[in-house]
Amino acid sequence: MKINNECCCGCKTEKPDQIKDTCPVCNNEGISVSKVTVEHLVVDDYRNAVNGDQYKICMNEDCDVVYYNLDNEIKFLKDQVRVPIWFKKDADPKYACYCSEVTENQVIEAVVKHGAKSVKEVNAITGAMKNSNCKENNPLGVCCHKIIQEAIDKGLKMK
Ligand SMILES: [Zn+2]
Repeated sequence: MKINNECCCGCKTEKPDQIKDTCPVCNNEGISVSKVTVEHLVVDDYRNAVNGDQYKICMNEDCDVVYYNLDNEIKFLKDQVRVPIWFKKDADPKYACYCSEVTENQVIEAVVKHGAKSVKEVNAITGAMKNSNCKENNPLGVCCHKIIQEAIDKGLKMK
């Protein structure tokens, strides 16, 4: 005999299995980040608190939350992370390349003062992307290529 889990009126009684994956503080949608990245970037005191595998990063520039994990309600704030998050308000310095510690201003300078136009030219002048280990160093765990390109675009507009 089959057990009928449905309510007598025919509605489904199961809980919706849609897990909300928005930031617990600002409710903005986050981007998935690997645990390796989170472990590497939280300050030492919090490294042991990194549990679970499903991490997200809050992309809201006004929100103090950097990483969060909804399975176990862990969240790490700006001051619990080693590096300034470039897209958060008041990030100082604003890194374009975290691996080689090249800032957005250095990239803009390479464009405005030295005439660089491509990521390759910027890298040659600033030393960006030289020791690439973006999975551990970049807060999003992705290659900094895109951030450098955005900084170049900014620089080109200033010319
Ligand atoms: Zn947030």
